[in-house]
Amino acid sequence: MPTKPKSPYLPFGDQQTAPWYGKDILSVKQFSRADLEYIFSVAHEMRVMVERIGTFDLLKGKILANLFYEPSTRTFASFMAAMQRLGGAVIPIRYSSVAKGESLPDTVRTLAAYCDVIVIRHPEVGSAALAAQYAGKPVINAGDGVGEHPTQALLDVFTIREELGRLDDLTVTMLGDLKYGRTVHSLARLLTRFKNIKLNYVSPDVLRMPRDVIEEVEEKDLPQKEYTVLDKVLPETDVLYVTRVQRERFENLEEYEKAKDAYVITAKTMEKAKDRMIVMHPLPRVNEIAMEVDKDPRAAYFRQMEYGLYVRMALLAMVLGKA
Ligand code: ASP
Repeated sequence: MPTKPKSPYLPFGDQQTAPWYGKDILSVKQFSRADLEYIFSVAHEMRVMVERIGTFDLLKGKILANLFYEPSTRTFASFMAAMQRLGGAVIPIRYSSVAKGESLPDTVRTLAAYCDVIVIRHPEVGSAALAAQYAGKPVINAGDGVGEHPTQALLDVFTIREELGRLDDLTVTMLGDLKYGRTVHSLARLLTRFKNIKLNYVSPDVLRMPRDVIEEVEEKDLPQKEYTVLDKVLPETDVLYVTRVQRERFENLEEYEKAKDAYVITAKTMEKAKDRMIVMHPLPRVNEIAMEVDKDPRAAYFRQMEYGLYVRMALLAMVLGKA
């Protein structure tokens, strides 16, 4: 396996002893509870700064390559906005020479020559880790197929912290496509860092949470239960995490058609939920949450995507030695 070549350049003014300096962010498995507390405190500061002054020059002169091989609205735009809010610049790439037959390692080596940090989204599991081997610059995984989406899970947990004021003693119910939804794979893993968490997985039989994720969570002694209907667990739920059925991952579209409208959250559904709870969704939403729910104060999904900006600002500052 090729090892990552060290950059021959010593950037001037970077805090090279900072704990996250030069690190890749590939999986939530990297983060301890203390790491999370640290990231969230930096993200919280970013929020305050953006609210107070908007844009500031913490990463002035730094360049991010935003390399996306799959559709994205929020992750793509929020990484761009994060870099620009910090005074840095972005090379956005959505259509690279891979279309001409170039390999991912070659594309990544090329970008690493021009930038300081690479964010990558790619349809294959393990692609971000592969990119990291060749980059010689920090690589951030923005979703690798059905694998992980670590920055989404970080922003999800940050959302829970900002909205409910705690990260322990929670019942979290994940609903929808738990098989192909990479955000729930990362989130379930990350929630094992907290105390007294109970996980409920509600999905059609064909879209159950993968065995490997369940086993990893089991090792950490978290109670988990699988269901096919929401009714029973909704009244005890503090966080209802709704996901889209991932059409693009199905081999058999007939199966997709059968599963796609399995759950739809409506104002009527919300009558059975606690007064103090939140509904989250990584977005994009298709049909799984009716628009009438948007005005319910418990609907946190649009605030959630905003928190993503602050978390991504924190991560960029950390890996570039400025936090
Ligand atoms: N935006 C999220 C992702 O990239 C969720 C989704 O696509 O449904 O995984």
